[in-house]
Amino acid sequence: MFPLENKFDATKWESLEPVATNLLDREINNIEDLESLFTDISDMSEHLSEAGARLYIGMTCDTENDSKQEAYMSFVEGIRPKMAEVSNKLDLKIANLSLSDSLPKRYDLILKSMRNSIELFREENIPLMVKCTKLSTEYQRITGAMTVDFQGEEYTLPQMRKFLEVNDRQIRRDAWTAVRARRMMDSERISDIFDELVKTRHQIAVNAGFENYVQYAFRSMERFDYTPQDCRSFHSSVEEHCMPLIHSINEKRRKSLGYRNLRPWDINEKSGDSPDVLGRDPLTPFNNVSELISQTSAVFHSLSGELGNMFDRLVEGDVLDLESRKGKAPGGYQYNLEKTGLPFIFMNASGQQADVETMIHEAGHAFHTMYCSDLGLIQERNYPIEFAEVASMSMELLTQPHWNEYYEREEDCQRAKKMHLESTIGLLAWICRIDSFQHWIYQNPDHTRSQLSEKWLELRVRFGPKSDWTDFEEDEALFWQTQGHLFGAPFYYIEYGIAQLGALQLWIKQMSDPEQALKSYKQAMSLGNTERLPDLFAAADIQLKFDSDHMGYLISQVDSALNALSV
Ligand SMILES: [Zn+2]
Repeated sequence: MFPLENKFDATKWESLEPVATNLLDREINNIEDLESLFTDISDMSEHLSEAGARLYIGMTCDTENDSKQEAYMSFVEGIRPKMAEVSNKLDLKIANLSLSDSLPKRYDLILKSMRNSIELFREENIPLMVKCTKLSTEYQRITGAMTVDFQGEEYTLPQMRKFLEVNDRQIRRDAWTAVRARRMMDSERISDIFDELVKTRHQIAVNAGFENYVQYAFRSMERFDYTPQDCRSFHSSVEEHCMPLIHSINEKRRKSLGYRNLRPWDINEKSGDSPDVLGRDPLTPFNNVSELISQTSAVFHSLSGELGNMFDRLVEGDVLDLESRKGKAPGGYQYNLEKTGLPFIFMNASGQQADVETMIHEAGHAFHTMYCSDLGLIQERNYPIEFAEVASMSMELLTQPHWNEYYEREEDCQRAKKMHLESTIGLLAWICRIDSFQHWIYQNPDHTRSQLSEKWLELRVRFGPKSDWTDFEEDEALFWQTQGHLFGAPFYYIEYGIAQLGALQLWIKQMSDPEQALKSYKQAMSLGNTERLPDLFAAADIQLKFDSDHMGYLISQVDSALNALSV
């Protein structure tokens, strides 16, 4: 039966059932038997993972196609719950074997994760998890279908972003208001979805024996190496070191633009970006997706021949869906095709500097996947998300010296770097706002909608830009609805912050020794999920820390780099 054939169909229970039975009933008499059980479980999981990935990709590339939607949902509702039970039984089978204690060190982290899942598993939570997936899929469908008629044409919301970068303040205001008006049309339904998600997640936590979903989430996300308290210290460090820099950047912008105050269409609430302070036209790094691909290839080749070749393999493997079009889900992601051995990259490019950053970011994830693809078991390759984002975010910074491939003029190149560094700081603030918000939400699951809004506005004072939302108070109170992670991936957000601190350290290392920075990158990424998080950081010769001094040092480096740019 094993290894399973390439054409094995993991979307059908008829094909999975005999495989599951074989694994569950298998007699284990010695370490060799046990190790081949691990290998075969991994084989099955790879097929299952790739089947799910292909259905998800199919759906997000074409949200208006009902049959793709149904195929994905029938997998989520029909196959995943059954396989969750199988996987729990397999975990139990292995954990109960006294032989497991004699497994080589290679299995330590796998066993730890297995025992953790056993402790958290509750049969009654399976339908609740399916319910959450359905609710967040509905959120995606609602937001993916949003379009705006603007200047006589229909645009998706990602396409509308380009109007928010133009210098004409009236156009920005009109574009921003049009997008907000469209979002507000569905805000009631989105609030309903969110209330239901919070209630369901709280129930999942209680069923598993936890007081609330914060504690459950930390355990289920295997955050063994940092605590909710560490996250709160992260928030305070950002408040102390990033906010003064953000406010001073914004104050310079306000003066330079000659405005009495900054309005929400003058400054991007999430990234902290603003239109050009000198009134120059927005940057246009590429005109179409094939240009984006060839420039990005050149960037990686000039950074390192090895990374350049790895990027080219993605292009040849036909695993990129990059352009924005109606019916495509918003955002960007990288999804591993575990059997094919390649990562799929999804994004909504529309010709802006932000698209360049997303392209490089997702390529960084792909490099991570490719560097650790030789590890035998799927669990060894499933790297922790905190470190996954080090792979992607550090690539954004490490490629900076080669961005002249996107920009012929040095002035444009410097401008792009400045925008990126400013948004690095801006993003840290947004991350802390979203993370604090989630801590509060799940610590207070019985909150009312008005308390939720109040909390959001309170956090805006701590972590938001000082822009003026007069006449748009309701939009301001509901702006959190634009953050998809709150719906589809609860608590998955501080990872970006933790990773950004790692990425900044690699970037600082690059300034003194570019070759060593790439070596450290490769060394750590090749480890996949075979070491604990602090050890993965150590392998890249960087540190996992959240304290004020560390943050202060990193932010001061960004500040100097910003001052060194002439634009
Ligand atoms: Zn990422």
